[in-house]
Amino acid sequence: MSRKLRVGVIGVGHLGFQHARIFHQIEEAELVGVFDINRERSEFVAKRWKTRAYPDMESLFKDVDAISCVVPTSAHFEVGKKVIEHGLHLFLEKPMTETVEQAESLVNLAKEKGVKLQIGHIERFNPAVLAVHELIKSPKFIESHRLAPFNPRGTDVDVVLDLMIHDLDLILYYLGKEPVRVEAVGVPVITKKVDIANARLEFDGGEIANVTASRISIEKLRKIRMFQKDMYISIDYLHRSVEFYRKFGDEIIPYFPDVKQELEPLKLELESFVSAVLNDEEPPVTGMDGLRALRVALRVKEDIARRMKNFV
Ligand code: NAD
Repeated sequence: MSRKLRVGVIGVGHLGFQHARIFHQIEEAELVGVFDINRERSEFVAKRWKTRAYPDMESLFKDVDAISCVVPTSAHFEVGKKVIEHGLHLFLEKPMTETVEQAESLVNLAKEKGVKLQIGHIERFNPAVLAVHELIKSPKFIESHRLAPFNPRGTDVDVVLDLMIHDLDLILYYLGKEPVRVEAVGVPVITKKVDIANARLEFDGGEIANVTASRISIEKLRKIRMFQKDMYISIDYLHRSVEFYRKFGDEIIPYFPDVKQELEPLKLELESFVSAVLNDEEPPVTGMDGLRALRVALRVKEDIARRMKNFV
């Protein structure tokens, strides 16, 4: 492999445009080209980031070592599978796929082909999350809220796969296990799919996570709060701020750690992918991580669907 990682971006809509921008900027990467089924869009993005618009995926595959796949979720499996079958490393946006079987199949295929597979769970790279990472040991009670105003983008899936999955990934990451019990409620309001949902996850050590996601909110809110022995930690993903309170003797002391505001999560995330490939290391968010988050998200969806049958 050349010293620089030769990368192509497939799907250069809203987020793919940003992927192309960042690969154009990363020193260790070379943005070889982009492909989008919308030719005009492809050419616009290629011109903006001084690269080539390829006429089809296969010709792009011939010139690169890795692909960043930023197509709508419904096309993740089809495109991702082709990329791995061509022996290329893959960065795949979240949610990994639509079904557990598809996700398992990509994980197995990547292993068989010996390529890296990283999933776009970007909150892991949020500077607010990074600022308190070392402090989070074994939270017993977690509460998260992710509320966003309505946006037609992303509505090919429901709010669980669109938004809640970000928090599910972090919760599984912090607890290191999947829940033993999942109870959830949710309803469609503006789209035909569930737009607002709440899930309660119970883990085998008695840990509880209460997770709320909405894409029909007036205000934006993205927070996660965690309680663990002698400590309360609150992370505001949106404003990238953190506070935590620690008990010392009879006193509770507040802390407001510095958050490196200048860090851009998407840049950190894509740099970590380039570095994992070039140094032959495990990506920080693996295909298995993507699969676990998806598996729990689908359990949330199933429980919502079960209750919705009784919903008039
Ligand atoms: P978008 O609709 O703006 O862009 C998707 C692009 O893919 C479009 O330009 C479309 O023409 C193109 N496309 C569709 N099918 C294709 C195919 N088979 N081959 C090539 N190009 C194809 O969507 P978006 O908001 O950029 O979202 C894309 C993906 O990124 C989704 O999976 C979404 O969940 C994910 N996403 C992740 C985050 C995050 O925080 N990590 C944020 C937004 C979106």
